[in-house]
Amino acid sequence: MHILSHYIDGQPVQGQSGRFGDVFHPASGEVVARVPLARPEEVDEAVAAARAAFPAWAATPPLKRARILFRFKALLEARQRDLARLISSEHGKVVSDALGEVTRGLEVAEFACGIPQLLKGEFTEEVGSGIDSHALRQPLGVVAGITPFNFPAMVPMWMFPVAIACGNTFVLKPSERDPSAALFLADLLKEAGLPNGVFNVVHGDKVAVDALLVHPDVAAVSFVGSTPIARYIYETGARHGKRVQALGGAKNHLVVMPDADLDQAVEALMGAAYGSAGERCMAISVAVAVGDVADRLVERLAERARQLKIGIGDDPAAEMGPLVTRQHRDKVVGYVESGVREGARLVVDGRDYRHPGAEGGFFLGPCLFDHVQPEMTIYREEIFGPVLAVVRVATFQDAVELINRHEFANGTSVFTRSGGIAREFAHRIQVGMVGINVPIPVPMAFHSFGGWKASLFGDHHMHGPEGVRFYTRMKTITSRWPEERLSAEFVMPTMK
Ligand code: NAD
Repeated sequence: MHILSHYIDGQPVQGQSGRFGDVFHPASGEVVARVPLARPEEVDEAVAAARAAFPAWAATPPLKRARILFRFKALLEARQRDLARLISSEHGKVVSDALGEVTRGLEVAEFACGIPQLLKGEFTEEVGSGIDSHALRQPLGVVAGITPFNFPAMVPMWMFPVAIACGNTFVLKPSERDPSAALFLADLLKEAGLPNGVFNVVHGDKVAVDALLVHPDVAAVSFVGSTPIARYIYETGARHGKRVQALGGAKNHLVVMPDADLDQAVEALMGAAYGSAGERCMAISVAVAVGDVADRLVERLAERARQLKIGIGDDPAAEMGPLVTRQHRDKVVGYVESGVREGARLVVDGRDYRHPGAEGGFFLGPCLFDHVQPEMTIYREEIFGPVLAVVRVATFQDAVELINRHEFANGTSVFTRSGGIAREFAHRIQVGMVGINVPIPVPMAFHSFGGWKASLFGDHHMHGPEGVRFYTRMKTITSRWPEERLSAEFVMPTMK
């Protein structure tokens, strides 16, 4: 049995709390590692290391910081398959999908390599006679990242490359369900030349998270996870004087208009609903069928879902793997049962799926519901599994109103051939990320990622320009170098 360590001040550090969590291999159902769950004193140790490393790191020229990130990027490119396999072994997603996640994280590191340009400030000559003004952005100090199980490499990489490029030092509390990717990244950062203490990993559960949230030396907290926890993180962190960005759960709708290319819409829905077994915050979990497209859409989706290839790890034909834990699988099955109880029509039922040769694995076949109503639990709540709900509406207007009424507002998409409908949708929909004939509109690294409403608490989206703003604070300097003696002024200074 592999016992994992924390990673503090550039070294692996054994857990001291005596508490451990089990890490499973989702395809076999076996425990493959034990992760230490930190007590507050261990969190203090990590924060102290980050605090000690901050002054020198913040004073390191941005170009030097960028060069370390360039080396990190090159090392990660060379080792991306190893990382993808590691992710697959603890998360369950197939390796090809895990490689996609690694690429998306790498792109944020690439963006952060441009930090000398991104940190260039603003300057105005002659804001008044003989007076100049410039604005610059400085790092915050020690910043913490708390991340979910579903992207164990990408989501931490939404945060730390930008944070450390800006001159902050970082403490990561990864998901205790698939914690090894964080340690893999820590090793690569060290190999790239990152000074000890700039990047630290403490494993744990609520105890470790709470210790970070109230710690007086933590200046900011970035969180990604479910909505109830995101709300708690935002409120607790803000109450303790921290800058917080807390990204929460989702219920993403894809609208299929009657004029859409149905083949494209069906393929898009299959990948977006069942890829990564639906364990993506940008997964499409609701297909909104407008007008007479519904029967054809459901028929085609059902046919395609029955052919979906479920597999393990490196299998190149596999389109979807197991769920992350047995507990999570049982929760998703519970939602499917509630859908049946509440009267939705279960067209494809994946509940009895057993994977040949891996009967102990946490597999669930694809599930497809038709005639789902907005008041049903399976429509209102995030399921986070391979379950697609079809809601039938009469008009485009009904589709927009349906989506705008939902509590969550992470991503959404419309499939249509009409430029007018597409433009109207992008303009009126109250959702943070919108796709036009694109099912999963995850912004690229040099744009920023984030939802609205109960999908994000805080003011800043993640990575891209918003990431730089989140991890820095602005200072504005007004300067004058007078030759003559100045006398006291008692009125509010104005431009002369
Ligand atoms: P989760 O909320 O259970 O856990 C997220 C993090 O919070 C983990 O590090 C966990 O250890 C910690 N945590 C859990 N319970 C806690 C508690 N009571 N107090 C303090 N900390 C606690 O989420 P998850 O199951 O790991 O991930 C799936 C969720 O993340 C889904 O809801 C998904 O939509 C969301 N997610 C959102 C985005 C986004 O960008 N909006 C991206 C990825 C995942």
